[in-house]
Amino acid sequence: MQKEDITIIRMTFVNAFLVKVKEGFVIVDTGLPMFWEKLENEMMAAGCLPDKLKLVVLTHGDFDHAGNCAKLQQEYKARIAIHKEDSGMVEQGVFLKRKMRTLTARIFSLIRKLKKRKFSLEKFKPDIFLNDGQDLGEYGFDATVLHIPGHTPGSIGVLTDDGTLFAGDTFTNRRKPDIATYIENQEQLNKSLDRLKKMNIKTVYPGHGEPFEMSSFSGQL
Ligand SMILES: [Zn+2]
Repeated sequence: MQKEDITIIRMTFVNAFLVKVKEGFVIVDTGLPMFWEKLENEMMAAGCLPDKLKLVVLTHGDFDHAGNCAKLQQEYKARIAIHKEDSGMVEQGVFLKRKMRTLTARIFSLIRKLKKRKFSLEKFKPDIFLNDGQDLGEYGFDATVLHIPGHTPGSIGVLTDDGTLFAGDTFTNRRKPDIATYIENQEQLNKSLDRLKKMNIKTVYPGHGEPFEMSSFSGQL
């Protein structure tokens, strides 16, 4: 996977990714509904017509990553894939209790409560449930699904064959590379990080902030 094959669609604090694959495109995370137009513009600019959109993969079920799924299903007939353990979040709006590691995370969660309407998720029914180890080759995407729970129970990473990891919120890089700021299960997160440490990961594309090189960070894990 070349850098040029990945378009980062920045939606203020969160990223969606438009990825060029064999004979089409895959979207990894869809961002916030208020940025629908931006998402669509990027898709059009790249030539991602409905028949070219092979799959939408969600790294987890949070509203800021799943925000445009309902619309993609309606208007692009997109197939949305997620790990089963996060399906309740997008189908019924299940709310997870999580530990917040930073002050920013606490402030953001407060703002979210106050502006509930703006930050609420349009529910939808996922089309595909992803499993650990699943090969995405049938969608033209040379990548494997890694179930890496901790941020949420159904958090996944998507690791391309040449070492690019779409990490969701297991990693973040807003000011510097770091691990998840919201944690649903610390023990699971630790296990997931241990597992990732042993893998051949070159570049990490986190859900929030800029991509970073794993080699510059793995020592701190
Ligand atoms: Zn997030």
